[in-house]
Amino acid sequence: MRLAPSDVLASRHGRIEKALAQEDVDALVVTNPFNIRYLTNHVGTAGTLIVTRDGLHLLIDFRYQEAVSSLQSSPAACPTLRVRPVPASYDEALIDALIDLRLSVVGIEAGHLTVARHEWLTRALASRGSTIVLRSTERIVEQRRAIKDAFEVSILRDAAQRLEAVADQAFATVRAGVRERDVAVAIESALREAGYERPAFDTIVASGPHAALPHHRAAARLLAPGDLVVLDFGGILDGYCCDLTRMAAVGTPSPEARRLYDAVREAQQAAINTVRPGVAASSVDAAAREILIGHGLGEAFGHGTGHGLGLEVHEEPRVGRPRSETQQARLEPGMVFTIEPGAYLAGFGGVRIEDDVLVTETGSEVLTSVPRDLRICG
Ligand code: ZN
Ligand code: ZN
Repeated sequence: MRLAPSDVLASRHGRIEKALAQEDVDALVVTNPFNIRYLTNHVGTAGTLIVTRDGLHLLIDFRYQEAVSSLQSSPAACPTLRVRPVPASYDEALIDALIDLRLSVVGIEAGHLTVARHEWLTRALASRGSTIVLRSTERIVEQRRAIKDAFEVSILRDAAQRLEAVADQAFATVRAGVRERDVAVAIESALREAGYERPAFDTIVASGPHAALPHHRAAARLLAPGDLVVLDFGGILDGYCCDLTRMAAVGTPSPEARRLYDAVREAQQAAINTVRPGVAASSVDAAAREILIGHGLGEAFGHGTGHGLGLEVHEEPRVGRPRSETQQARLEPGMVFTIEPGAYLAGFGGVRIEDDVLVTETGSEVLTSVPRDLRICG
């Protein structure tokens, strides 16, 4: 398992400290476990992190104390980390820590702290006579996570390339008479053989009419001659997710199936060609959508074009139609996201093609290397 070295963590902390100053808070209470991992290398189901302007305070219970102390004596140690043992309740320990650290305005992650917990913390502070103000903040760490550092890019590139062996295994399994679920099992075992910790999400094998359902998983349906099969899978390598969709045909595809495939492939290429720094994320979506509309498939493309990839399989940036209420995200070097347009025709089937793309200084690099052709199987 590759872990971010201390200097990488230090530069992440620097960016968060700058954000705290911009948001005018003394500290940020981090409760999203992916954000805690990003800032400390600590992986656990529990833990609360307080990031102040000059250091990190990790609250953990006895289950994790040994793991953290061995991490702290390794090259992946988190600089300026202080550990605060949690004897009983995390929230009580958090109140103690906030008071001890003499903070006055403390940011909380609005997207991760429940209303019930927020109310409890506010009441507990008041009952201790504290004047600490808890202020909601939005995605401070998530926005920084959207720009991958060199350490993350090298893992994401490796994760994307290892999908070649998995795709070979998937295509080798696709043939008439095999159940969708059997193909999914073969993919998931190939993911483990290729070195991934586990699948990044439930593998999708959607054949024939099922291919028209973008969120179909894998069922008992037997693959039949002429089917188009959507194979959507990915793994987690050293904590980072990759995500690929390829299309297989069981025997010779019909001219209609071929036409659908060609339209989606053209749309995907148009979207990839749009990627460079400064471009609005929604322009990437628009490029794919325009091509599909031109083929009379605008209505058949009912989802966004892509999503960021990193410690989570769906993270920032969102690559979709512009939302009026939010400021448009612009692409920046270091962003990694999927480009996965699709077209779905109820009763007939569907096509999706998905690759993982890195925004470079001058354009883009497609990280996934599996050939994009419609693969004729069985
Ligand atoms: Zn996918
Ligand atoms: Zn995806």
